[in-house]
This record gives sequence, C-alpha cells and structure tokens, in this order.
Amino acid sequence: MESLKPKIAIIGVGNVGSTFAFSLMISGLAREIVLIDKNEILAKGECMDLNHGVSLSHPTKIYTAGFESCEDADIIVITAGANQKPGQSRTDLTKANVAIFKEIIPAISKHAGNAILLVVTNPVDILTYVTLKLSGLPANRVIGSGTVLDTARLKYMISEYCNVDPTNIHAYIIGEHGDTELPVWSNATIGGMDIETYCADYAGLGDAKSDLAEIFMKVKNAAYQIIQAKGATNYSIALALVKITKSILRNENSILPVSTLITDYFGINNVCISIPSVVNINGVQQYLKLDLSGQEQELFKNSANALKNIIKTIGI
Ligand code: NAD
Repeated sequence: MESLKPKIAIIGVGNVGSTFAFSLMISGLAREIVLIDKNEILAKGECMDLNHGVSLSHPTKIYTAGFESCEDADIIVITAGANQKPGQSRTDLTKANVAIFKEIIPAISKHAGNAILLVVTNPVDILTYVTLKLSGLPANRVIGSGTVLDTARLKYMISEYCNVDPTNIHAYIIGEHGDTELPVWSNATIGGMDIETYCADYAGLGDAKSDLAEIFMKVKNAAYQIIQAKGATNYSIALALVKITKSILRNENSILPVSTLITDYFGINNVCISIPSVVNINGVQQYLKLDLSGQEQELFKNSANALKNIIKTIGI
C-alpha cells in the first residue's frame, strides 16, 4: 500500500520514542507514523493509545510493523536501546547500545531509501558515528540529536535568570552530548547584545560570569537529576526531536546544534559531535565554523578527543 507523506518511522517506543510519537501526532507534522520495537506488545499498546487520540488531534495513520516498513519513510528516528540508570553516565551505555546498533542498523538501512536517519540513543555522538559507518549513507543524512536538548536547557535556565523570553537568547552548548560538553559564552547574545553586558546593564545582575558558569553546571547535570527523580527524560527530548523533524520536513534551514561528522574543525576530523548546523530537507546542509575563544577551542578538542578514544574501542 502506498505510504502517506510525510512518513516518520520510530525505532524504539520506550519513554523517548513514545513521547516523541505523541508530540509528533499533536504537532500535525506527520501523516503517517510507524512504531517499531522489539517489544511488540509494548509497541501495540502505545499504538492503540495514540490512535485513540487521533480524532482529537490530526488525521494520522499510526501502526506497528517491522523494519521493512521503514520503506518510504522521510525520517527514521532511532531511540532503541538501554537508557541511563541513576548514577550511570551516557558513555556507560556504549557497549550495550553499540551491540544493538550493530544488529539493527544494517536491517534499517536496507529499507532506508532516501530517508534521513536521526539518532537519539546514547551515547548519541558515538552511535551517530556507528550509524554513519554501518549504513554507508552520506554524512548529511545521518544526524544525532546532539546538544539540541542541552541548548534548550541552557536557554530555559538563562531565561529564568535574566527574566527574558528564551527565544531572544542565542547561546549554544557544543561538543559531546555528555560530560565533556561546553557552553559557547564567547558567542552568546541576548537581543543582539553580548550576554554578560545584557545581564549587567539590562537585567541588573552585575557581573554574571560565575552565575552563568553555575547555570552551565546545572545544564550538564540536568539529566542525572531527572533520572534520579523519575527514571528517564522524555518530554524535552521529544520536543527537541519535533524541532529537528520540523526543520527537515519543512525545509526550514534552522540552525541547530546536532551531532554531525566533522572534517578539519579546529584540526579535528572523523568524529560525530555537536556544533551549530543548518538543518533542512537534505539533513545537515552545512555546519558552522564558530569563532571560539582559545579556551573554548581547547575544551572542544578535549571533548572530540574523548569521543575519538571511545570510538577506538568499539571496533567500527
Ligand atoms: P526505554 O528503555 O524506555 O526504551 C528503549 C526501547 O528500545 C525499549 O522499548 C526497547 O524494547 C527498545 N529496543 C531495545 N532494543 C531494541 C532492538 N534491537 N530493536 C527495537 N527496539 C529495541 O529507554 P528511553 O528512556 O526511551 O531511552 C532510549 C534511549 O534514548 C537511551 O539510550 C537514552 O539514554 C536515550 N536518550 C537520549 C537523549 C538525547 O538527548 N540524545 C535524551 C533522552 C534519552
């Protein structure tokens, strides 16, 4: 049967995959959503529950199937795999999730057609690289959700601190989606103004440097805190995925810090890592060479090298 377009396939419908499916359905962006999970009973249950909301949101065909139903998908979103348990880091998941990806990526890419693959499973930068290598797809079509979520957390916390609309804040977290990520304060602006100047002159906060450093630490540790409290993160990552999906499907050219393969970025090559990138119907159209401060360059290289050291251990 002919697919309805746009069509999104979601692999893994646990906390993240099911919340993304729900957010996607509400957004009205997709006409067809296929749910794929090795736990077929779970997938069927999520599917029934979602379908019962269709008449209350947007006409959307939602069903469960196997990997063959990735055929004709515009985007294949991969959230399958183990999640962090309290106290675990994202890189602690490497062994288990690389093993899962070695099994599922060949099966998915057989049916991927012209789809863009959006990787969410952690450690997301490592698994984006694994997906790229195992699928043989061009780099623009394999995207990791990267630090889009971390950047959203940063904007929220700065907006609370400065009492300003988060959409007026331009600030990015780059690097690994994980413990070595870094904020790019040298390029951060509010209303077109350097962030520290805004904090001092317009928010009445004086010298904000140490408060901003503290905000970054909260961003970096946010997932640990949420996982400790409720076992998983799902809402904000689902919305980050809707944002990336929307930019692809509507060819919006949004600049998002997704994880992408970089070449000669401050001398770093052959690793998937987050930097602000133009996302459109082609996936990652291009990534931006930021004017990083000397210290930020060092932190970025450190983050990229930490990822490269993990890649060396996984036999890809
Ligand atoms: P979860 O355990 O709730 O769901 C994972 C699902 O994957 C399960 O339903 C499981 O049955 C399925 N699965 C496992 N192996 C499979 C296979 N071989 N084929 C098909 N399905 C398979 O976990 P979750 O909380 O939804 O998290 C999923 C992943 O997303 C984790 O790795 C988590 O760390 C990651 N995550 C990433 C971000 C990000 O910003 N990149 C944010 C939150 C969570």
